[in-house]
Amino acid sequence: IEDRHAGAGQRDLLALPGTGMSILEISHRSKVFEGIIQAAEANLRKLLSIPEDYHVLFLQGGALLQFDMVPMNLLRGSGKPAEYVVTGSWAKKAMDEAATQGQVHAAWDGAGCNYNRVPLPDELRLDPNAAYVYICSNETIQGIQYPAIPVLADLPLVCDSSSDLLCRPVDIRRFAVLFACAQKNAGPAGVTIVIIRKDIAARSPKDLPSMLNYRVMAEGKSLFNTPPTFAVYMVKLVTDWLINKVGGLEAMHQQNMAKARLLYDVIDKCGGFYAGHADRDSRSIMNVTFRLPNDALENQFLKEAKQRGLHELKGHRSVGGCRASIYNAMPLEGVQLLRDFMLEFYEKAK
Ligand SMILES: *Cc1c(COP(=O)(O)O)cnc(C)c1O
Repeated sequence: IEDRHAGAGQRDLLALPGTGMSILEISHRSKVFEGIIQAAEANLRKLLSIPEDYHVLFLQGGALLQFDMVPMNLLRGSGKPAEYVVTGSWAKKAMDEAATQGQVHAAWDGAGCNYNRVPLPDELRLDPNAAYVYICSNETIQGIQYPAIPVLADLPLVCDSSSDLLCRPVDIRRFAVLFACAQKNAGPAGVTIVIIRKDIAARSPKDLPSMLNYRVMAEGKSLFNTPPTFAVYMVKLVTDWLINKVGGLEAMHQQNMAKARLLYDVIDKCGGFYAGHADRDSRSIMNVTFRLPNDALENQFLKEAKQRGLHELKGHRSVGGCRASIYNAMPLEGVQLLRDFMLEFYEKAK
């Protein structure tokens, strides 16, 4: 994250202005930290227009703990099934976790198309009595994303938005629960943002352990135990940057689309040399996934990219290929460098 905000993170690691103490030293019960967590929440509420009847929680355990908390709070003991839309690795993992808590059903599974697209609403088979429908808005590993949040019957919608929260505006009212680990778009690892409708949190079963209970977390205003204070503080700085510097999520969305377009244009123009994994209508603007004609070229590509300072382009080990993750913090100039390198490599190798 740019200049003044990165500067603030660095400076405050030594001493927060006016306190003489590091953000890592102050008590989570102090007035100063109270101000920080309230500002982080206020920023998120402003950016996403989060209505008053939703809680904004800062929890720990990453997105993966949400794979468990969602079914523990919303499924267990309900006597209903939960519907999972299996679009890729993360939704699949979430469904497998939910199966430890109750009955789950795959409303759709993209295995047959190698998880290269999201389903059309009329392809889903949904039990109208389900406890909830679960989607992953951006499958980070496959690089596929819903172009817009789908309308899926009249069931509570749960969404893992770990890798695309804050990349574009979303209508929070569409969701019962929306969660995202911070470490893609919102800050460093250690905190998970959970946006949950208040009436749903209020219904959490009484016999759940406190740390796994949305109602307890909400009543404690995310301070039931010590929250990850530094990570929350960084979420405040990142959201300050989005509001003051970027100019909000509509502006962020425009920037993200422009960045993604640069790379997809190369994929489309190089006559299949770079084979994009995602179907055109399901292309992610956060993770651009593609393959080269063979392993030797792919290794050569990754090696030369690294020599240019273009790092972390190897695809996830479960799917191989290449993946360019171009989250909010990646500037346009970084993507332009990759675009130029891809064109050059193609000219040389074709
Ligand atoms: C990164 C990611 C996760 C995993 O998050 P953890 O914080 O490691 O638990 C889950 N879902 C999606 C979509 C992700 O991108």
